[in-house]
Amino acid sequence: MKRISFLLLYSLLFLSSFIQAQTKTYSILIKGGHVIDAKNNINEKMDVAIKDGKIAAIAKNIDPALASQLVTADGMYVTPGLIDLHAHVFAGTDDRGLSGGFSALAPDPYTFRAGVTTVVDCGGAGWASFDKFKSTIIDKSRTRVLSFLNIVGEGMRGDPYEQDMNDMDAQKTAEKALANKDIVVGFKLAHFGAASWVPVEKIVAAGKLANMPVIIDFGAGKLPIEDLFFKYLRPGDIFTHVFTELEIRDPIVDLKTRKLRPFVIPAQKRGIIFDVGFGGGSFNFNQAIPAIKAGFLPNTMGTDLHTGSMNGAMKDQLNVLSIFLSMGMDIPSVISRSTWAPAQAIKREDLGNLSVGAGADVAILSVRNGKFGFRDIAGNRNEGKQKFECEMTLRAGKIVYDLNAIASNPEKSR
Ligand SMILES: [Zn+2]
Repeated sequence: MKRISFLLLYSLLFLSSFIQAQTKTYSILIKGGHVIDAKNNINEKMDVAIKDGKIAAIAKNIDPALASQLVTADGMYVTPGLIDLHAHVFAGTDDRGLSGGFSALAPDPYTFRAGVTTVVDCGGAGWASFDKFKSTIIDKSRTRVLSFLNIVGEGMRGDPYEQDMNDMDAQKTAEKALANKDIVVGFKLAHFGAASWVPVEKIVAAGKLANMPVIIDFGAGKLPIEDLFFKYLRPGDIFTHVFTELEIRDPIVDLKTRKLRPFVIPAQKRGIIFDVGFGGGSFNFNQAIPAIKAGFLPNTMGTDLHTGSMNGAMKDQLNVLSIFLSMGMDIPSVISRSTWAPAQAIKREDLGNLSVGAGADVAILSVRNGKFGFRDIAGNRNEGKQKFECEMTLRAGKIVYDLNAIASNPEKSR
């Protein structure tokens, strides 16, 4: 009898707490943080409430009693989940480079701890390998994975595949993209070694057929970037690895005068989008510092994440943002370039913002003050006083990373 009444009491308690949770207005309230939301022109202290996986309210002071779970974000920045415009996540165990090979990384272990909720795989898959990419990675990841489809059917499988102009089929590539419009956001050309404009013409043709942007890793044949920006690319097309200084490429900062070349800012004004694409070999302070001093800022902060870059100078999305702080950019500028700007670049304006009704992909970031060192790919060092640290990441309204246990009533970890 005693046991039965105990069970009854226990069930009633459970039921009442269950009903209480169901009747709360919000599932999660992020309280006291400084919100940066470029789309909505917010750069101040605000509370953010979440319900049913979406942003439900954003206001100066939301009552914590209305929420099942409280996240205390005092002294932290609350931003849309970061979008990495340039990542390599078509991981696999075959000898296929960044196209189902060992050099690419499965996204979830690397994204959430850096505040990233969306990655765009940058050319890992082509039309012939996209289905495998979708079934093995895209469909299985909690990170939102989008794709710039490679103009090479086999994708980034290494040479000789990436040099094969016969496998660059604009029609088939565009068809695959249009059949997967919810995932494919544009096209990628990379690693092409010969001095020929044909691959550029083919990828722009695919872009026109599907009405999507292209992203170009360019210049192994040392063709002039001025022609690329003004004669071949369309406004809205993306040039990645903007601060590279490799022997084989035409740089944006003149190697003799160390001045930004005169056509670069006009190209940006024309609508060419300049992405960092830091990677394992594509970011030099000798390019970035003079360019920024001359008033040129990159549009987007793609990392070019892969096994080499994450253990090299690049590390992760937040380290890339911290590097740009060390060169004089401010916090709202680097946040907007990794949220709202990439969302616009890939024509996914549902992402990269905290509008009421938007999916609740959120990053909560601390900025540590101190003395920090950053390297470029040539081994040069720059010192900074600020460094981002990811405190929490939410994906579709669920907490997927919580560094310092700032959430109350945590769901039991599985
Ligand atoms: Zn890349």
